[in-house]
Amino acid sequence: MGVVKTKGIILAQNNMGDYDKMCTLLTPDLGKIGCSAKGARKPKSTLMAGTQFLCFGDFLIYKGAGTYHINSCEPIEIFYNLRLDLDKLTYASKIAKIVNDVTDENQNTYRVLQLTLNTIYMISESSKDLEFIFSIFKIRLLSIIGFRPVIENCLRCKTKENLRYFSFIDNGLKCESCGKIDKGALKISDTTIKALRYIIYSDPKKIFSFELSEENKKELQIISKIYLNQCLDKEYI
Ligand SMILES: [Zn+2]
Repeated sequence: MGVVKTKGIILAQNNMGDYDKMCTLLTPDLGKIGCSAKGARKPKSTLMAGTQFLCFGDFLIYKGAGTYHINSCEPIEIFYNLRLDLDKLTYASKIAKIVNDVTDENQNTYRVLQLTLNTIYMISESSKDLEFIFSIFKIRLLSIIGFRPVIENCLRCKTKENLRYFSFIDNGLKCESCGKIDKGALKISDTTIKALRYIIYSDPKKIFSFELSEENKKELQIISKIYLNQCLDKEYI
């Protein structure tokens, strides 16, 4: 395979030996790959900046016997604001953890990478409510990776009228009468339903371009949390 040029974001990094690092890099075409970065912790290393947690950049990587090595990297965006604000860093770290968990090597992860970058950019550069950004990220991510909820009609009787509940048993909306007999379903407002549709169908660059009341944000937060944990069979907080 030789040397490959790719863009990517560092999802995780661990120290190895005295001066080296092992990095987890999410790329658009190779999927998520583990790469060693030799000497990256030496004070004058040219790999130091680009192999930091959550740095997005251009990487030249070499595939040896089953392992990738970072030959060089050029940071494009280091999301400096994350390093100044513990809350922002906490949310960005949650995003990186989830993305790390749902991606693998040899996948086309272009859309997941695009969502990750847009989300981390919003966390770093905007003053938008962090929990709200996180809710939007989760719903969109699940839709990309194969867990898009049914949001056009009641998933039991198919009506498009009186949609009132989000069902976690059947993954999507239910009408007033079908929702009432689904014990685990959550009653939600029309505005939250519209928000779900917007998050799932809007242009990737515009998914964060809307606002909600505190009450609707709370509904979205509850849905996204339960739905994520159920789809991925995890206990993310
Ligand atoms: Zn129904």
